[in-house]
Amino acid sequence: MTEGHFLKAADLKKNIKEKLEEAGIQDADAEVRLLLKAYAGITEADIYADPDILMPSEEALISINEALDKRCRHIPLQHILGKTCFMGFDFNSPPGALIPRPDTEILVEEVLRDYHEGCKILDLCTGTGCIIISLMALTGDCIGTGTDISEDALAIARENAHLILEDKKKLPDFRKGDLYEALDDGILYDIIVSNPPYIKSGDIENLMPEVKDHDPLIALDGGSDGLDFYKRIISGARAHMIKGGEIFLEIGFDQASDVTGLLEANGFKYTKVIKDYSGNNRVVRAVSPVL
Ligand code: GLN
Repeated sequence: MTEGHFLKAADLKKNIKEKLEEAGIQDADAEVRLLLKAYAGITEADIYADPDILMPSEEALISINEALDKRCRHIPLQHILGKTCFMGFDFNSPPGALIPRPDTEILVEEVLRDYHEGCKILDLCTGTGCIIISLMALTGDCIGTGTDISEDALAIARENAHLILEDKKKLPDFRKGDLYEALDDGILYDIIVSNPPYIKSGDIENLMPEVKDHDPLIALDGGSDGLDFYKRIISGARAHMIKGGEIFLEIGFDQASDVTGLLEANGFKYTKVIKDYSGNNRVVRAVSPVL
């Protein structure tokens, strides 16, 4: 290969795509676009406008090759770039917390539908903080609390809050603890939201290497039936929410009836299942009883 900046971006794009496909990476097209943008500042539109556009520098080429090498070893792109776009915000996503997923945007959108001014929102298993931080950024006036058992995750969440929330006076209150453990008695939330670990323990070894080898196991493992966290979240919820408050839970595609069953057994009303853009059941919401 000649000097990096004499190389056409379009040719590099083709080489990268081939290497990614050889390594078995799905959606190589999207990943090439992200790599070129991140390391060379070149977009698809730039290549379309000028098919002969050159790589900007030798350094850009070196960085892109290093990133490609990691990606071919199935390190997630979100760890290589260190960032993940979620709800239009760039979240830091280093190892240590679950990489934010597009599916979880459905959960945030569902909360936004019913949000009212000054709402107190509790996000359990907050991870990178992507849910509560997005809600605070998009509503401007909700009062957010996030809990997680992992100190590493909380450090990432706090940094993300500083990066993303412009009004630094109103940051989420991040607390370390197992679900409700870190909360003060007597504080009642209007909304509880969570994307808890929900993979069955026995299914984890079948996940893609990007997930099983790089997302924290505690952020994935939902116990033998995948429902451990739902059982604990739902049975504890009413003690921490107002009467008529709402709960929103992300679920696995096959967990809707189990999770609605748990909600109903605990007195919750108006359970509703929402699908993601692939047509899979993805979110369950319900209202806590007024009486
Ligand atoms: N709430 C975070 C997210 O949705 C982390 C979830 C988790 O650790 N299971 O990305």
